[in-house]
Amino acid sequence: MYSFYELSMTETWQISIYQDDFTMTETCGDPTMFETFWRGPIGESATLVIPGYQTMSYFSDVGNLCWFLEPGFEREVRRLHRLVGNAAIEGYHVLVGTGSSQLFQAALYALAPPTADAPVSVVSTTPFYSMYPPLTDFLNSRLYRWAGDANAFDGDDYIEVICSPSNPDGSIREAVLKSKSGKDIHDLAYYWPQYTPITRMLAHDIMLFTVSKCTGHAGTRIGWALVKDKEVAQKMSKFMEQSTIGVSKDAQLRAAKVLGAVTDGYEHQLATAAGGDANLLFHYARQKMAQRWRALRAAVAASGIFSLPDEVAGFCAFTKDTVTSNPAFAWLRCQKQEVEDLESFLRANKIITRSGTKFGADQKVVRISMVDTDEAFGIFVNRLAAIK
Ligand code: PMP
Repeated sequence: MYSFYELSMTETWQISIYQDDFTMTETCGDPTMFETFWRGPIGESATLVIPGYQTMSYFSDVGNLCWFLEPGFEREVRRLHRLVGNAAIEGYHVLVGTGSSQLFQAALYALAPPTADAPVSVVSTTPFYSMYPPLTDFLNSRLYRWAGDANAFDGDDYIEVICSPSNPDGSIREAVLKSKSGKDIHDLAYYWPQYTPITRMLAHDIMLFTVSKCTGHAGTRIGWALVKDKEVAQKMSKFMEQSTIGVSKDAQLRAAKVLGAVTDGYEHQLATAAGGDANLLFHYARQKMAQRWRALRAAVAASGIFSLPDEVAGFCAFTKDTVTSNPAFAWLRCQKQEVEDLESFLRANKIITRSGTKFGADQKVVRISMVDTDEAFGIFVNRLAAIK
């Protein structure tokens, strides 16, 4: 007997629950892989107790452009970026959102010309993150609409979303459109050392981050934006004010505690010069991701009918060594001519993936989550290796 449930909230979220011998690889990129780290010594220091009388007011800092931003959360965001060196923070406004999903929508609202005759086109290089089209078009806005692949766009007015490293294929990306009147949103959810070498400190106009992918606390629903321009930051803040009257203080305090524990882990390590990576989130997670990529490449070699993007290496300015990229997702192709629909082919082999068609690509490619639980990942690679 097996039971299998797919909860489909729009086409994009699929959560599989497997029992007995049934299938695996959950497809929404739920980063449960980091749970083992948080069960360790650092997890203890990230514990938070909030007394009944606290966090009752709507307001966090009335003097701040983003009046619902908890000062402690902003402090930890800046501290973490200073540690990792992945994004500039001096001269940037910090905004908090209910996940970076809310900040993405806030950025569309802030960048779209309010009085244009037609909605501005929102584009991203294919394959793009499958949530961009539904998030853009969900409310049928008069301000903006999804227009697909940035490489196929012709015109001067647009909003280009650049996801780097890219979900779904892990590639490092730059904006492809260069018009002066065009606007960019940089989605840097995966620009952390466990996924890619930190090659430079980015300083784009709008940069989006999320605890979901940084620390694995997807359920806390906290993301942040670093925004250069004050007017854009004000409009984004207004979006959060109008849609949810700010962002949960409790969640911000939790996120601050978690980010603080990560930075403390590194500072403590430096101070004590103690050996081992048990307290170093990015080192732990990188090692784990690298192991998984090795296991996946071995399974692909054993099977002989699949291919993956080439391994890419670079010098990481954070860890001061040359390392390979370990993307959060694998972009898997099948070499067999007769396999037209790879998602269905793998499903018949008890592996659930997400078809390339959801990312603006074809059905001969699928996306696989690399951040699932150890058990699930182990079942997946064994099944993949056995397919001939
Ligand atoms: N951007 C990208 C590229 C993502 O993969 C995700 C999560 N899958 C998000 C944004 C949304 O993150 P959050 O959980 O903060 O809403």
